[in-house]
Amino acid sequence: MKKIAIIATGGTIAGSGHMGKTTNYKAGTLSVENILASIPDIKSEFDISLFPLLSVDSNEMNITHWIALKKKIDEISSEFDGIVITHGTDTIEETAYFLTLTINTDKPVVLTGAMRPATATSADGPFNLWQAIHLAGSSLSYGQGVLALFSSTIYSARDIQKISNYKIDAFEKANTALGFMKDDEIFFSSRQMKKHTTSSIFSSMDLSHLPEVDIVPYYAGADSYLLHTGAKGIVVMGTGSGNFSMKWKKEIETLQKEGKFFVRSSRVIDGIVFGDEVFDPHHIMIPSLTLSPYKARILLMLGLAYTNDLDKLKEIFVQY
Ligand code: ASP
Repeated sequence: MKKIAIIATGGTIAGSGHMGKTTNYKAGTLSVENILASIPDIKSEFDISLFPLLSVDSNEMNITHWIALKKKIDEISSEFDGIVITHGTDTIEETAYFLTLTINTDKPVVLTGAMRPATATSADGPFNLWQAIHLAGSSLSYGQGVLALFSSTIYSARDIQKISNYKIDAFEKANTALGFMKDDEIFFSSRQMKKHTTSSIFSSMDLSHLPEVDIVPYYAGADSYLLHTGAKGIVVMGTGSGNFSMKWKKEIETLQKEGKFFVRSSRVIDGIVFGDEVFDPHHIMIPSLTLSPYKARILLMLGLAYTNDLDKLKEIFVQY
C-alpha cells in the first residue's frame, strides 16, 4: 500500500454551516478526520497518516505558516510516497507557489480544497480529496513540482489561479492545466518547465529573514504616495501590460535610486508583462512575465533574500 500524509490547514473543505447550504459558513472548523470520514473506502487503498497543522480560513495564512508547512514537508517526505495538503481556495495559489519554490523533495505534493463547505449538499471537498490522494500516490506525479487538484483538473503550483469566487470549477484555466483525472486515472498532458523544488536555489536556503515586499495596485488617478510603503521590494500591479502614469514612473525612478526594487506586473488575469521602453526606459524594473502580482511578490521576497543584484533578479524571474 502507498503511504500518504495529509497535512490539514483548514479552508472551506473543512468548513461547516447550515446543513445543506453553500453560503454563510465558517471555514476551517472541522478536523481532517471528519473530512476523511467522507471517503471511508480510501483507507483500503492507501496507508494514510494525518498531520493537523492549522485550522484556519486561508486568509489567515502568512509567511510563518508557509515556512512551517515547508519544514513539515521536508521533515516527513522521506517516510511517505506522497503528501496532500488541504487548504482554503482563497490563497492556495500563494501557498502552492511558495512551496514549489522552497521544498526540498521531488516526492509528489498535492494541494486541494473545496468551494462548498463539508455540510453543503453536494460538497465538492470529498471528491477533490479522493482524487488528490490518488494523484499524490502516483509515480506519474514524481518530480512535477507542487501540484494542485481541483474538479478533476491538475494544475502546477506556479500557474494555478483562482478565477471564480462562485463556481465549483474555481480554477478553470484550461491553457495552464498540466492534465486531467478521470476518477482515479491520471492523464498528464504537459510539464512545468520552470525551476522548482530540488532544482530551486531557494530549497536549500535559510528562509528565516525574508525581506518585506508589498503589492501596490495602480488605478486611474492613483497617487504616487501609495508607492511609499517602506518595503524593500514593491510589485507594481499595473493596468494592461503593466502600465501606470508618468507620475508613478518618476516616483519609481527616485525610489529605485534609494535602493528599492520594483517588479512590473498587471492586474489583467491573462497575458504577459515584458520589459517596456516607455514605462521603464532604463530597465530598472523586473518584468513579472507570466506571474500574477501575488506570485511575483513571493518570488521577489525569496529573490531578495538571495541577491540584491538587479540583473540576477531579472534572471530569477525568467527561470522560476
Ligand atoms: N475563505 C475560504 C478559504 O480560503 C474559501 C475556500 O476555502 O474556498 O479558506
